[in-house]
Amino acid sequence: MKQIDNFIDGAYVGGSRRFDKRSPLNNHIIASVAEAGRSEVDAAVQAARAALAGPWGKLAVNERVDLLYGVANEINRRFDEFLEAECADTGKPMSLARHIDIPRGAANFKVFADTVKNVASECFEMSTPDGHGAINYAIRRPVGVVAVVCPWNLPLLLMTWKVGPALACGNTVVVKPSEETPQTATLLGEVMNAVGVPNGVYNVVHGFGPDSAGEFLTTHPGVNAITFTGETRTGAAIMKAAAEGARPVSLEMGGKNAAIVFADCDFDAAVEGTLRSCFANCGQVCLGTERVYVERPIFDKFVAALKKGAESMKLGAPADPTTGLGPLISREHQDKVLSYYAKARAEGATIVTGGGVPDMPGDLADGCWVQPTIWTGLSDEASVCREEVFGPCCHVAPFDSEEEVIRRANDNVYGLATAIWTTDLARAHRVAGRVEVGIAWVNSWFLRDLRTPFGGAKQSGIGREGGVHSLEFYTELKNICIKL
Ligand code: NAD
Repeated sequence: MKQIDNFIDGAYVGGSRRFDKRSPLNNHIIASVAEAGRSEVDAAVQAARAALAGPWGKLAVNERVDLLYGVANEINRRFDEFLEAECADTGKPMSLARHIDIPRGAANFKVFADTVKNVASECFEMSTPDGHGAINYAIRRPVGVVAVVCPWNLPLLLMTWKVGPALACGNTVVVKPSEETPQTATLLGEVMNAVGVPNGVYNVVHGFGPDSAGEFLTTHPGVNAITFTGETRTGAAIMKAAAEGARPVSLEMGGKNAAIVFADCDFDAAVEGTLRSCFANCGQVCLGTERVYVERPIFDKFVAALKKGAESMKLGAPADPTTGLGPLISREHQDKVLSYYAKARAEGATIVTGGGVPDMPGDLADGCWVQPTIWTGLSDEASVCREEVFGPCCHVAPFDSEEEVIRRANDNVYGLATAIWTTDLARAHRVAGRVEVGIAWVNSWFLRDLRTPFGGAKQSGIGREGGVHSLEFYTELKNICIKL
């Protein structure tokens, strides 16, 4: 069985206890993970503080950027190891992780290295009463030690989305991966050592949230800023922790995203895009769709096409190239998703397809599988229309007017993403401008340019990361005013 340790100051170390990591495919124990207690978390934060004052803090931007390019290249060189580790932890299809998780894990280092290398600084000339004037210019400095708290759905991708810019800006990090997905963050420690990133710049502490590594890290006074991706409830707890010492937070949180399908859409593209947005990664994507609104004239045809698509998806093990869907991450999450399946039934949903647990062969029968599920017939007040399920499911409802669908899409506490399907250009702009979200896609989904602002409105997030927007969080912008 694999032993997974914390990574502190460039070395792998144990913890106060160990916990088991189970495979979502069959619930077998696949690894023993060291849980960081207060002392390991403290050692990681101290190592990160010391590294700020060490060689890392003295590197020129070009040298730092070269190291991060080295990290990206080394991830690519060890691509198959990262792929194996990510798929072992999550059970996701290798065909998905090969195209999304691992390449994006590497790209996140290059993109932010480029951003930092090329970013301009602002400068204002001003007049003064003596006529000599003054010049103001702004420079960026690292914020210090950044705590990075991550979820399990896209482990390497979402972690490097924060570690990439944090390091590019000259910070040091202590990462707390999800207890469900400890492997790739741990492997990244080897990469950091191999390319010569100084000890203490990248640290990993394993464990859970409350009364474990997550809480110990986010309440640690040596942490200067906290960046988090996960559930909104957890984000609120982290904000409270960050209030002590008035430390900044960047929060990427839950969603209950709508897809809006107009009758004038490219039908096949809308079906294909909606199938992906509802079911990719077994519905465990923060940007995924769980509410589909379809204009009435094409409603029946659209539901039938979605049903056909969902029923053609093959559930299976990661290495099987025909696998379209993996399992959910854990038994606990499977229970949560199935409780929503039961609620939908109890609240009177028409089950178009799915709604239960599939029959899986061999020892996969003990895994955390659920059927891809489509409902119709519920009111917008139903539980599965209001609350984030985070599983392979959606409710499809008809609508009659643009005004109505915008109101219904916006009637939720979350505001992360919307996908709009229409060939009417003016309507696309109008609707995209009015949906209360951080990201609106038109005739696409999950099309990501890493230079663009990424984040959620309402209870889906605080702050934006991506491109230069990440610099707002990972640096202190200092104005220097020179009287001439
Ligand atoms: P989660 O909130 O349960 O856990 C996220 C991380 O926080 C884990 O590492 C966990 O151990 C840690 N944690 C939990 N309680 C804590 C506490 N009190 N203090 C400090 N750390 C604590 O989320 P999850 O179940 O891992 O991920 C799924 C959620 O993440 C969904 O709600 C999804 O929408 C959201 N998500 C959002 C985005 C985005 O970009 N907006 C991206 C991916 C996932």
